[in-house]
Amino acid sequence: MVHLPDRIQRLEELAKDLWWSWTPDARNLFRRLDYSMWRMTAHNPVRMLQLLPQETIERALNDPDWLASYDRTLARLDAARAARNTWVESHCPEIAARSIAYFSAEFALHQSLPIYAGGLGVLAGDHCKEASDLGVPLIGVGFMYPQGYFRQSTTSDGWQEEVYEKLNWADAPIEPAVTPDGKPLVTAVPLGNRTVIVAVWRVLLGRVKLYLLDTDLEENAPWDRELSARLYGGDRDTRVQQEIILGIGGVRALKAVGSDPDVYHLNEGHAAFVVLQRIRDLCEKGWNFDAALEEVRRTTVFTTHTPVPAGHDAFPFHLVETHLSGAWGDLGTHRERFFALGHYDNGGGPMFNMTALALRASGAVNGVSRLHGDVTRQMWQPIWPGASLDTLPVRFVTNGVHVPTWISFEIARLLDTYLGADWTERHDDPAFVERVLSIPDDELWNARQALRAFLFGFIRERARQRWAAQGAASRVVAAGTMLDQSVLTIGFARRFTGYKRPELIFSDPDRLARILNAGRGVQIVFAGKAHPADDVGKHHMQRIYKRALDPKFGGRIAFVEDYDLHVAHFLVQGCDVWLNNPRKPLEASGTSGMKAAINGTPHMSIGDGWWAEGFTGGNGWLIEGRADSGDQGARDWADAQALYALLEEQVVPAFYDRGTDGIPHRWLQIVKESIRTVLPRFSARRMVKEYVRDMYLPALKGQPAAGSRQQAAGSRQPAAGSRQQAAGSG
Ligand SMILES: *Cc1c(COP(=O)(O)O)cnc(C)c1O
Repeated sequence: MVHLPDRIQRLEELAKDLWWSWTPDARNLFRRLDYSMWRMTAHNPVRMLQLLPQETIERALNDPDWLASYDRTLARLDAARAARNTWVESHCPEIAARSIAYFSAEFALHQSLPIYAGGLGVLAGDHCKEASDLGVPLIGVGFMYPQGYFRQSTTSDGWQEEVYEKLNWADAPIEPAVTPDGKPLVTAVPLGNRTVIVAVWRVLLGRVKLYLLDTDLEENAPWDRELSARLYGGDRDTRVQQEIILGIGGVRALKAVGSDPDVYHLNEGHAAFVVLQRIRDLCEKGWNFDAALEEVRRTTVFTTHTPVPAGHDAFPFHLVETHLSGAWGDLGTHRERFFALGHYDNGGGPMFNMTALALRASGAVNGVSRLHGDVTRQMWQPIWPGASLDTLPVRFVTNGVHVPTWISFEIARLLDTYLGADWTERHDDPAFVERVLSIPDDELWNARQALRAFLFGFIRERARQRWAAQGAASRVVAAGTMLDQSVLTIGFARRFTGYKRPELIFSDPDRLARILNAGRGVQIVFAGKAHPADDVGKHHMQRIYKRALDPKFGGRIAFVEDYDLHVAHFLVQGCDVWLNNPRKPLEASGTSGMKAAINGTPHMSIGDGWWAEGFTGGNGWLIEGRADSGDQGARDWADAQALYALLEEQVVPAFYDRGTDGIPHRWLQIVKESIRTVLPRFSARRMVKEYVRDMYLPALKGQPAAGSRQQAAGSRQPAAGSRQQAAGSG
């Protein structure tokens, strides 16, 4: 670690508050310190401070500009932490002194903290960052996975290989959490007939703190140390234990840091055991079970993300029974009642279902898009027997993305100029964002060209490094070295899984080859990981990899390895079109298309998830195949035909229709509409304000969620599953 003289002593503190990552001045401060080190560490200032030579610090000390920027940035950090002049202060000051716990199994905050797998984590991370900006008193709780998710590498014929790297703690923006009297925070979680010790790490995000649980301690048995090692790594037995640690350990950890949240927000069902610990705490204070459950329900809100029944965690009763055996305390006599809360038969016999538990123990529930709200009501109606669909306490809050995190510097600079420097505060106001239409075409086109060039610079540099390290010429082609930075580029990056139909665009390879090779051409960049246990997903990925190597497509298809937040930034900003073609209605929301759209990369998608609300006719393209039958193959084929027709008739002609000045004015109209319509409505700012208004405030006021039309009379009691059917519990 470099020595920091007093004058810039707080640089380390800044590096360890991820607030820097979405604050342009703070980012610049580190970038300017040593640009090559900034790139080499993939923008990790904590690591930079380990590696920097002392001369660099001395040079910064003699640079008045840099020092002025340092002072300004730290003053802003202090203001952000104090949450002065925030939206909460001006609009709902009564919640400023309350606290809301936000539980999630993953958080995607920055590439230097690999504790996320994909969309769920990005949503959680963006929620916390926006809460910080708005002054919402949120406290996050999640897992510190020492081995994170995996890094993806490919064999020379495109088979995914998973690499688990142990995180070097010293390189991550984390600190051990401490108790109010300054001791390192450790908590104990009863698991089966033993006790697992859990250490707690703290991550700072300006106003918001995040606590991460870690079982990798010497005091624990080797198998318990492994529990938090990897995200979604183990079998069901591991998984249920992880979820006990998250739910029960999380509530205990909050108590140990001296926090007593007023509202608990469960992001997906993984943390639903929170409910058990909270009911138990109340019973130990003398409450009876029903009153305790009612109190927990009043103060719990739940967000579900998965429109497929099989995607929800469910465990055999005996497994839950075994691992919870030490956790009951005074709740023991109510074991049967508790099991009934999770009881759900999804077709394969009754199981303990984490989503059912969360639904029955939450006063307000939401899906993550309008369409997904409807699907959720239909899917979970049996939880409220006899209730009609429109009276269920299930609403929707459509996802949004944290704009300061995802917007490129180039587009942000145009917004500074043409919207005004206060745009970051006002970007969820659609009338204000109208001013996007006044951005001159030539400036917008220059920004778009620059962003595409950055993407190709990034792709080539990665390919070069891989080739230098490993050779293997075929990989150099697949990695995108033949791409042309002036050619219309389509991006497709997401987890490789069947319902997202990654190979849809290859349905008619000859027609695709004509589209890619005709005229000035079209190219496609793919990226994404398959779940380690999902061989079907890995086969999808491998077939795409092989397409990239097929000369028929002329080197115009690439596969970029190891999709993560860092790669995602380059892709969503640098492509020209963002493609999304899931099987409707299986994409609950999707967020990568929002990140693209706010950067002027219009979305081309099936009308699923957020796009069912987002498409306006002029801000991108709707893929809508007309199949003669409901057969899956027929629908896939029809959607592929619709996709080709859009490319041939609309996308390619608009992109290459250049004026005498060489600028595609018609294209830029679509780009502006994309930014104008998506930036305000699909921002995390709009989303978090809705969570505050529709979910947190009613819970804080002790009322059931208010009944707007999309909403329900929230007092309806869910029916607990019948315990008699729950045979098989030990
Ligand atoms: C945004 C993002 C996702 C989620 O994108 P979807 O559109 O929901 O598939 C997944 N992974 C990374 C790295 C992302 O940045």
